[in-house]
Amino acid sequence: MHPHKNPRPPLTAKMVIQAVGKVLRKSKTKPNGKKPPAEEKKQYVEPEFTKIRVLEFDLKELVVLPREIDLNEWLASNTTTFFNLINLQYSTISEFCTGETCQAMTACSTIYYWYDERGKKTKCTAPQYVDFVMSLCQKLVTDEEIFPTKYGKEFPNSFESLVKKICRYLFHVLAHLYWAHFKETVALDLHGHLNTLYAHFIVFVREFNLIDPKETCIMDDLSEILCSPLPTPAPSTAAPAPSPSSQNHVTER
Ligand SMILES: [Zn+2]
Repeated sequence: MHPHKNPRPPLTAKMVIQAVGKVLRKSKTKPNGKKPPAEEKKQYVEPEFTKIRVLEFDLKELVVLPREIDLNEWLASNTTTFFNLINLQYSTISEFCTGETCQAMTACSTIYYWYDERGKKTKCTAPQYVDFVMSLCQKLVTDEEIFPTKYGKEFPNSFESLVKKICRYLFHVLAHLYWAHFKETVALDLHGHLNTLYAHFIVFVREFNLIDPKETCIMDDLSEILCSPLPTPAPSTAAPAPSPSSQNHVTER
């Protein structure tokens, strides 16, 4: 009998172990109390946090185009939903995302700059950047010429590229949430929501190739973990035994 036998494909399991191992190895190597390098802050890829989700379900089933639904309708409705959910998730920590705490829109080693309508690059704080993103998305998804809701109204030729643009910006917001505000999200006990939202979003954009993988690669370590099924717990022992290090985190399923 192998009570801990992992049903995931070997490649995925290996990748998870590597990703987790990398983080654990890194977190052990700072005896002198010096400020750790940026990568060490990736609390969000630690198993005790990634295992927390509000929904354990095959997300792929949720995102594939249902038969008899128009592709553009499907993209429009999902994009609008993700915009609303990511906006809401950000709003839960927005009081901690200020011009002082987040002087730039950072995620991992990346700084995002805002390009205005004329293509001019502007440096801005993270809350300003998120505000630009949300205002733009709001404007686009409520524009009847771009996201038509009335029967018989056609989608414009630019529809797909605008959906891609929205998704790219929303990804920046999610990446910033993990990178800069994961601790606050955990303190609010909302990391299960964030993990589920993130995994759903990534599975969706992958299904329809909506974001260049070069853009999302900074979060690949997390994406690989969250977009794989959770390891099956040991079969029917009375209560799940948390590891000593994770006892103050309650799984919310
Ligand atoms: Zn911030």
